[in-house]
Amino acid sequence: MTASDPIDTARLNLLLNELRLPAIKHLWSSFTERADKEGWPAARLLAALAEHEIAERGQRRIERHLAEARLPPGKTLSGFDFDAVPTISKARVMALVAGDSWLEAGANLILFGPPGGGKTHLAAAIGLGLIENGWRVLFTRTTDLVQKLQVARRELALEAAIARLDKYHLIILDDLAYVTKDQPETSVLFELISARYERRSIAITANQPFGDWNRIFPDPAMTLAAVDRLVHHSTILELNVESYRRREALGQQRGPGRPASRATIKTQAD
Ligand code: ADP
Ligand code: MG
Repeated sequence: MTASDPIDTARLNLLLNELRLPAIKHLWSSFTERADKEGWPAARLLAALAEHEIAERGQRRIERHLAEARLPPGKTLSGFDFDAVPTISKARVMALVAGDSWLEAGANLILFGPPGGGKTHLAAAIGLGLIENGWRVLFTRTTDLVQKLQVARRELALEAAIARLDKYHLIILDDLAYVTKDQPETSVLFELISARYERRSIAITANQPFGDWNRIFPDPAMTLAAVDRLVHHSTILELNVESYRRREALGQQRGPGRPASRATIKTQAD
């Protein structure tokens, strides 16, 4: 082939398909045209195309991770009013979103607080930030996951089901305290916690302090063992604020643009 030979563009596109290089396939004709016009060295053209393919690949990966995470929509850190929760340090939350130090160690995150205090919002927003930083996350209501694991146990496939969850660096179990031992075999939750201990992280939101977790697990020894594994390496965030929903509703009654008085907000910075 000489420099003046025509290029079989249809074949080139087939080759790029085969090589799974969709960004290059999409861009090459405009890039080569520009390179010809501006007299780019061949290596510069190749490097520019490779950079675009890599950048798009990263973007596609994040989109896949966002889809698999099943986060509740619209819960972001920029939409979270940290001023409303004086017990939580924004800097600390931002450090969690970087992920490295705790997710690599399989450490956990526990968010306590009364209903409406922002636990689900904050947990989901941290999950979103982690995904944007390249981590894999699964958000699930605890009862949903317990049900799935119970089905797996009945089919004698609990271990495999738990192993499949290993691909997630973080599982966010929302509303742990809604699980009760009336739901048969909540011990599957204990199996999950044990299997991930010091390897893969779990985030939990709960209305109830540890003292009430005896209602969740089949027996006190299991509760103790579960709490022990969860808190051994963990960050605990307490959102001890009055319901944000209630405050918003009160604020609206007072008329637009006038936030609920901070003085009515109970906080316990302990
Ligand atoms: P919890 O899970 O603790 O019951 P949620 O996270 O569901 O509370 O919060 C209730 C509602 O109030 C949600 O719509 C949430 O987005 C909003 N909300 C709670 N706290 C905040 C906050 N600090 N800033 C912005 N929105 C908040
Ligand atoms: Mg919630």
